[in-house]
Amino acid sequence: MTAAAAARLILTQLHEIMASRMHAQRKLDRVVEIIAHNLDSEVVSIYLLREGMLELFATRGLNKEAVHVTRMAIGEGLTGTIADNVETLNLAEAKAHPDFQYRPETGEEKFHSFAGVPIVYRERAIGVLCVQHVDPRRYEDIEIEALQTTAMVLSELISNNDLVDEEEALGLAPEQTGPANIAGLSLVKGLASGNAVYHQPRVTIDQVMADDIEVERQRVYRAFDKMREQIDNMASNAEFGVGGEHEEVLNTYKMFAYDEGWGRRINEAIDSGLTAEAAIERVQQRTRMRMREIDDPLLQDRMHDLEDLANRLLRIVSGQMGTAATQGLRGDTILIAKNLGPAELLEYDKRRLKGVILEEGSLTSHVVIVARAMGVPVLGRVRGLRGIVREGDEILLDAENGTATVRPAQPVADAFETRFTKSRKRQADYAKLRDVEPFTRCGTRIQVMMNAGLREDISNLNLVGADGIGLFRTEFQFLVSATLPQRERQFRLYRDVIDAAGDRPVIFRTVDIGGDKAVPYLRSGEAENDENPAMGWRALRLALERDGLLKVQARALLEAASGRSLYVMFPMVSEPWEFDAAKSVFEDQLAYLKSQKKVLPEAIHYGAMLEVPALAEVLDQLLPRISFLSIGTNDLTQFLFAADRANPKLAERYDWLSPAILRFLRRVSLAAVGQPVDLGICGEMGGRQLEALALLGIGYRRLSITPVSIGPIKELVRQVDLAQITEAMNGWLAHPPENLRTTLAEWAAERGISVD
Ligand code: PEP
Ligand code: MG
Repeated sequence: MTAAAAARLILTQLHEIMASRMHAQRKLDRVVEIIAHNLDSEVVSIYLLREGMLELFATRGLNKEAVHVTRMAIGEGLTGTIADNVETLNLAEAKAHPDFQYRPETGEEKFHSFAGVPIVYRERAIGVLCVQHVDPRRYEDIEIEALQTTAMVLSELISNNDLVDEEEALGLAPEQTGPANIAGLSLVKGLASGNAVYHQPRVTIDQVMADDIEVERQRVYRAFDKMREQIDNMASNAEFGVGGEHEEVLNTYKMFAYDEGWGRRINEAIDSGLTAEAAIERVQQRTRMRMREIDDPLLQDRMHDLEDLANRLLRIVSGQMGTAATQGLRGDTILIAKNLGPAELLEYDKRRLKGVILEEGSLTSHVVIVARAMGVPVLGRVRGLRGIVREGDEILLDAENGTATVRPAQPVADAFETRFTKSRKRQADYAKLRDVEPFTRCGTRIQVMMNAGLREDISNLNLVGADGIGLFRTEFQFLVSATLPQRERQFRLYRDVIDAAGDRPVIFRTVDIGGDKAVPYLRSGEAENDENPAMGWRALRLALERDGLLKVQARALLEAASGRSLYVMFPMVSEPWEFDAAKSVFEDQLAYLKSQKKVLPEAIHYGAMLEVPALAEVLDQLLPRISFLSIGTNDLTQFLFAADRANPKLAERYDWLSPAILRFLRRVSLAAVGQPVDLGICGEMGGRQLEALALLGIGYRRLSITPVSIGPIKELVRQVDLAQITEAMNGWLAHPPENLRTTLAEWAAERGISVD
C-alpha cells in the first residue's frame, strides 16, 4: 500500500470518529487502534501537552496503566525532543539515541525501533504521535509520511475537542500568553494603543479532509498558475521589498514557485485525503522542518521569504486574499509586519491605524517617512516580533522609548494611560504654538516649514502653523496610483496645494522615483537591473531620460501656479549640468505656454537638493544658477557613510550628530554665506530637537520637517541663543568630543533648553 493510500484509509476512519459524538478520550483510544491497524504497528502512542508537559493520552501496545501517568517535559526524552524541535525522529534503535529515557511503567523495553512525529498546531508542537516495533529497523519514508499526515488531522481533532488548553492548542510559549515587553528602535516617536493586526493575516484552515480529491487538485493547479503569474509580475512591483535584496529574494521566490517538487508533494498530500489548504500547510510544515536542519544562515534567512510564498499560495487557494488594509480595520490598530512599502501603508484607514511595529525598518526608509507624515508612531527592528504577538493582542506602543507592551497587566495599562494623557497634553501645548512665530531668544526668525506629499497633508499646513511647504514629494502621488498620474491629475493636486498654502511658499520637488520608491508602471529594463537602486537610475537621472515624464510634470506645475510664484526643486542633482537640463525642460514648457497665451506663473524659483556629496564640491558653479538649496540629509548621510538608508542592520550605526556630517553641513552653509541663495534642510534630521539645535549652530535658518515635529522644533527655536550654540558647535567641530550627542544634550540641559 502506498503512503497516500494508507493515510487515506486512516483519514477516512478518523473522519468518522471526528464526526461521532464519542467522548474525546474514547476518540483518541480509537485513533491509536486505527493507526496501529493500518500501519501495522505494534505500538502507537499519542502524547499531548498538558500544563506544559507531554502526557501519554492514549496508547495501543504500551501498558495502559501508563496513560495519564507518563509525562515528559519539552526537550526531555525522545518525545520531548520531537516536540521541542518540532521535527520527526526515525530510529532503528531508540535506546541508542542520546536523548532516550526509559520509563518502566510503559513496558517499552522490548521495542527497539521508534518513529515519532510532532502534532503541530500553528507552527508549534502540541503533542507527539509515535510508533514502535520490536524489530530494529528504520521506518520507510512512506510510513513517516503517513504518520505526518495523520498527525495533521489529529491536530484538528485535538483542538476541536479541547483536548489541550486553548493556550496550549494555540501552541503558545509562556512568552506568548502573559504580558511581554518588546524592544526595538523608535522610528517615529509617539505613543499609541490598540489591538494587533497582522498586515498579512494568517489563513485559517477550516477543513482538513477533502470531500472530493479531484476538486482539491484542480484548486491547487489554479492557485499555482495564479501565484506564478503574480511572481512574474513582481519583478517590477513595489510590494516586493527594497534595495539590492530585491533580486535575490525574487530569485528564491521564482525558484520555489516553479519547483515541480513542491507541486508534486502538495499533490501527494491531497492524494492522502487532505484539502488543498491542508495539503499546502502540510508540505509547508515539512519544508519548515527541513529548512531548520540546514545549517546555513543565509538559507535560514530566506525562511521567511519561503513562508511568505507558501502563505501567498494558501491565500490564493482559500480566497482569503489581500492585506489587512483591504479587509478593513475594525478598531484602534497596531499594525504588525516584517516590513511594508510606503504605498502599502497608505492603503490603511488613517483614523484607525494608531501605530506600526516592524521587524525591520530604518529611520529614513520611505515607509517610515510616510508614517511620520501620517503621524503614526513606528517601532522598528523588533526581533522575533511575529513569534511574540498574536492577532488581536492588546498592545501599548511606546515609540518614545523604543518599547511596547503586549498583553499588558492592568497596572501597566493604567500607568501608560496616564503618560498618554500627558503626552496628548504636550501635543495640545504644541498646538498652542501654531500661530507663534519661531524667533530665537536672540531675535532671529527661523523658517520652520513642513514636508508633505499627499493631498491629506494639506490640512496639516494650517493645523501646525508651518511657514509653508519646504518639500512637497510629488512622487507620493505616483506611489499611491495604480497607473501613471496623467497631467490633469497632477495639475489638480498641485493647484489645490498652492491654493491651500495661500501666500506661503510650496517647494515642489520633481519626481524622485527609484531606490525604495519603486513605481511598477515606470520601471523598465535599466532600472530593474540596478544592483543598488538608491545609487542607480533614479530621481532626476530617470526624469531627464524619460523627459516625457518631466515635461508633463513641468506643464502641470506651471499651469497650477499660474499667476502665482512657483518653487521647483530637483532631486539628486549630482552635477550642475543636470540642474541646467532639468530647468530647460521647464523653460521650454514655459515658452510653449506663453505661445498659447496662457497665464504664466508670476515668478519661478528654481532650486536643487544637495543629497549627493559630489555636488558640495562644485557649489561655486552651482550656487549662481539657483535661488535655493535644500539639503536632503536622508540620502546625503547614506552616501557619506556608504550606508544604505533602508538597511535595518545599519539603522543605528551612524549618528547624524557625528563630526563627519556636521562638518560637511557646516562647510556647505559657509559656502552659501553672502550668496543670494536660500539655504535649508529638508531631511528627517531637521525634525529632531537635538539635531535641529546643532543645525542652528552651524548656520541653518530654514528647516523643512514632518508636521508633527513643527511644534517641538518651534519650542526649541524659542529657547536658543544662536551666538552661544554657534560658538559651542565651532569648538566641538574643531575638537570633537568623544560623543557629540551626549555633549550637546548636556550643554542644552545646563542651559535649561529642553530637548527630547
Ligand atoms: C532626503 O534625501 O533627505 C530627502 C529629503 O528626500 P527623500 O527622503 O524623499 O529621499
Ligand atoms: Mg532624497
